[in-house]
Amino acid sequence: MVCPKCHSGNVNTTVVSDVKMKNKHGAGYWIFIGWWWELIKFVVFGWIYLIIKLVVGKKKKIVTNQITMAVCQNCGYSWKI
Ligand SMILES: [Zn+2]
Repeated sequence: MVCPKCHSGNVNTTVVSDVKMKNKHGAGYWIFIGWWWELIKFVVFGWIYLIIKLVVGKKKKIVTNQITMAVCQNCGYSWKI
């Protein structure tokens, strides 16, 4: 493998786990929108949501991606493979 920046062959590869937390709504959201929006959502989409939940299953809150990163030992440039 060759560095795209300095064209050096001295490149290390490392596997990085990229953990992303899914967005959580803040307190302001729940005070102004959350309570009635969730209520409407439950009344209108609640039964659809329950069916989807039964079919699809519980969603994971933490998403983990395995990313292979290449790091150039010559210039320090890193990039995804
Ligand atoms: Zn380089």
